[in-house]
Amino acid sequence: MPNTLVIVGAGFSGTVLAANLLRRPPPKAVDIVLVERGSSMGRGAAYATHEFPYLLNVPAARLSADSGDPLQFLRFAQGRLAGIDGEDFLPRALYGDYLQDLLQRAEGAARDDVRLIRIFDEVTGLQRRDGQWPFAAQFARRAAIPANAVILALGAPPPPPPAWAASVWDHGAFRQDPRDLPNTLTAEHKVLIVGNGLTMVDAVSLLSRDPKRVPTLYTISRRGLLPRPQTAFRAGAIQGSGEALLAHAHSLKALLNACRKLAREVETPQGDWREAVSFIRNLAPSLWRRLPAAERVGEVMIASYGNPAAGEVDLYPQEVTRVLLNLISNGFYAATKRKAQDGNTNFEPILAATTKNLGDRVEIRIRDNGTGIPPEVKEKMFNPFFTTKPAGEGTGLGLSISHDIIVKQHAGSIVVDTQPGEFTEFKIVLPRKAAAIGSTGGRA
Ligand SMILES: Cc1cc2nc3c(=O)[nH]c(=O)nc-3n(C[C@H](O)[C@H](O)[C@H](O)COP(=O)(O)OP(=O)(O)OC[C@H]3O[C@@H](n4cnc5c(N)ncnc54)[C@H](O)[C@@H]3O)c2cc1C
Repeated sequence: MPNTLVIVGAGFSGTVLAANLLRRPPPKAVDIVLVERGSSMGRGAAYATHEFPYLLNVPAARLSADSGDPLQFLRFAQGRLAGIDGEDFLPRALYGDYLQDLLQRAEGAARDDVRLIRIFDEVTGLQRRDGQWPFAAQFARRAAIPANAVILALGAPPPPPPAWAASVWDHGAFRQDPRDLPNTLTAEHKVLIVGNGLTMVDAVSLLSRDPKRVPTLYTISRRGLLPRPQTAFRAGAIQGSGEALLAHAHSLKALLNACRKLAREVETPQGDWREAVSFIRNLAPSLWRRLPAAERVGEVMIASYGNPAAGEVDLYPQEVTRVLLNLISNGFYAATKRKAQDGNTNFEPILAATTKNLGDRVEIRIRDNGTGIPPEVKEKMFNPFFTTKPAGEGTGLGLSISHDIIVKQHAGSIVVDTQPGEFTEFKIVLPRKAAAIGSTGGRA
């Protein structure tokens, strides 16, 4: 009997994974079952066909799904659209066409004992079983399929409708999905768009497609800002020094530090940190290959992450993101260190980030099952200038700054619970409405 791999979700990740498995299958016969609840594969949330030609936010020359062939998408696009080059931002739907083509070509070239089975249905449950197939995927409309492995490529769940709009959820004019707009609107109508990000731009573009029927549009932004252009990435803006900085990143920790440093360098004096992200994203395949083999296997399992039911909170997003990244990278470090120290191959490093709704406050916990913190360090760890690292090392935020951001800037609290050799858990509690948030704060 062939092995069976079930991939749930045929958006970007599921489709590219299926294509790669078809191209480089395991040695034995295998059935790759690709399941999609939508009406087509290779599209997902981003690359669906719409009446309005939404554009990709990455230039064509940087969007190949095959790291061995970096211009693959560009060539595909040039075969369909005239006069385009690698710096062009092309329609998102074209990328969906490309992913479908990628899958079809991989299927056509696959070994005879490697089959792709496409299923259009929703996976509604997973079961553990005994015997050859340890799992079974359950479906909304068909019998369960036993599997050796199930890969979840589900994408990001849509955000829940905000609680403060509960009184209008069931009103015919309320739209949770801003792209699901009626085409019956005329200049007589008024449309209110809450939020002023890229989604607002999408909705405005859609509503303005017929110049004779543009409704009056109101948009509300708490900060009075328009989104910064996605297309501002300047190719080559940070070439030289960026590459030199990343060239020495031969471990995950060094890479993380180099990325932080690059983002800080780019941000000052008036740069945009997203240029650092675009730059790093471009080099991702070579950075990945340079990491030691031990760090390239999925070393840390992310156990869980944000719970949408925790709701929204007023905060300074950049500062709180830095605090969380700092705690996550410390947790990652501690968990991998414990694995290296124990030499215990059965030990599974786990990092769990959870959020909880506490009414007028929100709780965030970051927990790792790493080396833990000894009592003498725990006592002083929030003090300014305290560090366990040798002088000159440690480019992280420092726990005293994290403490100030949470306690002084947000009127919240941060405490740590730890057991040496067992675990460390940071618990942050933030008030939902922070009186101190001014013009640079946000909602997350
Ligand atoms: C509007 C929008 C525009 C974007 N534009 C860009 C862009 O220009 N460039 C870029 O790099 N990134 C863009 N992104 C980000 C993009 O979504 C990700 O880069 C990538 O496509 C995510 O891939 P994914 O496979 O994780 O999720 P998706 O591509 O969303 O795929 C998940 C799939 O899983 C299916 N699924 C979920 N649950 C089940 C289930 N239980 N059973 C069966 N099927 C299920 C869904 O129907 C979906 O097709 C955009 C995202 C959005 C929302």
